[in-house]
Amino acid sequence: MRNVKPFLCFSKRWTPLRWLNKPRYCSNPSTAAVSSGKNRKALSDSFRSQIASGPSFQDFIRGGSVNLSADEHTEERSYLSEELQMVGNSRKVYFETYGCQMNVNDTEIAWSILMKKGYQRTADLKQADVVLLVTCSIREKAEQTIWNRLQQLTAMKKKRLKSKSPMKIGILGCMAERLKMELLEREKLVDVLAGPDAYRDLPRLLAIADGGQQASNVLLSLEETYADVMPVQHGAQGYSAFVSIMRGCDNMCSYCIVPFTRGRERSRPVRSILEEVQMLSDQGVKEVTLLGQNVNSYRDTSEQQFCGPELTKLSRGFDTVYRTKQGGLRFSDLLDQVSRIDPDMRIRFTSPHPKDFPDEVLQLIAERQNICKQIHLPAQSGSNQVLKAMRRGYTREAYLDLVDNIKRIIPERERDAAAPAEEGCFILG
Ligand code: SF4
Repeated sequence: MRNVKPFLCFSKRWTPLRWLNKPRYCSNPSTAAVSSGKNRKALSDSFRSQIASGPSFQDFIRGGSVNLSADEHTEERSYLSEELQMVGNSRKVYFETYGCQMNVNDTEIAWSILMKKGYQRTADLKQADVVLLVTCSIREKAEQTIWNRLQQLTAMKKKRLKSKSPMKIGILGCMAERLKMELLEREKLVDVLAGPDAYRDLPRLLAIADGGQQASNVLLSLEETYADVMPVQHGAQGYSAFVSIMRGCDNMCSYCIVPFTRGRERSRPVRSILEEVQMLSDQGVKEVTLLGQNVNSYRDTSEQQFCGPELTKLSRGFDTVYRTKQGGLRFSDLLDQVSRIDPDMRIRFTSPHPKDFPDEVLQLIAERQNICKQIHLPAQSGSNQVLKAMRRGYTREAYLDLVDNIKRIIPERERDAAAPAEEGCFILG
């Protein structure tokens, strides 16, 4: 029999650590040995500087602040003194909202959170102690508008630096999520960054900013729906209101930034939505618009009993980029319950995705007198090749079939006169 040598064999004198510690030379060992000390020092310096400029442990913790110094990482935060610092002391907050209706709703959520901490709201920029821009990243132009606005605000802030009431500037929403470090570094006078899932952290971030540091929380969440934050409806009209029912998007269309700035889809529990709609009805609101990035992809999985094995039904001929979802209370269930609260209250919704119009949603719209017969149906493209490149999950033919199905189930005499939409989803993109 042939002697088979083991694939790896170690001599008794093998000292792995010593071997690992030896520099590995590609050049002549004699010359390399001379500079080995220097090399090692240079390598170690470069390694240290890379670690120093990378994300810190703090960045992986919900509510972390990006610009804490080494000493501050170990700083203890007593909850009592923190609570004292986080109060608004009647300081005035000025909001400026850009972009979609979702941002208008986010402004109301952010305001509701700050109001509870003792801030006041002002419509006069000159009186503001805190200026918060709720931003949009969907188009370059939208971002450019905000960069320009930041220049103006920065000039205002500089003038007030030495006054008794210095101004703090915060960027909220999609642009904070997308441009994080660029905003903090390029616009040195931005004090606070809060991504769309971090509004609860605003009082703490503003407290850090009061201490003279920049503060940021741009972590996206898989759960945050602000279900327990009743937005303060800040409209003079009083007869219509927006109710956010879901956030985020899982669709990953190839051209769209929303899944990256707004995170994964998650829906607010049905119970909290019904409470809010009931409250609005009691206040005399006559029209409610249900809001979401993909409003008809709504799925409440907050209770075990909702989570059955049944697969999600899509519009006929439509597909998704993700695995078919299972269970949960769907949009038709929610629409059914919302429309029963007050028969005199008109119900609208925006913005839907074409894939989530199973027949039961259309039948409910047709049958309930108070659900408005108006559907915003993003078209995107009439070319199958382009639709494929966009990863939209449907063909021109499937889309046209859906339009026919809508016309069949909701007869023309009942449909609101609405211009065909050219836009895509929530983002008009
Ligand atoms: S276009 Fe609409 S569905 Fe597609 S990723 Fe953007 S928000 Fe989601």
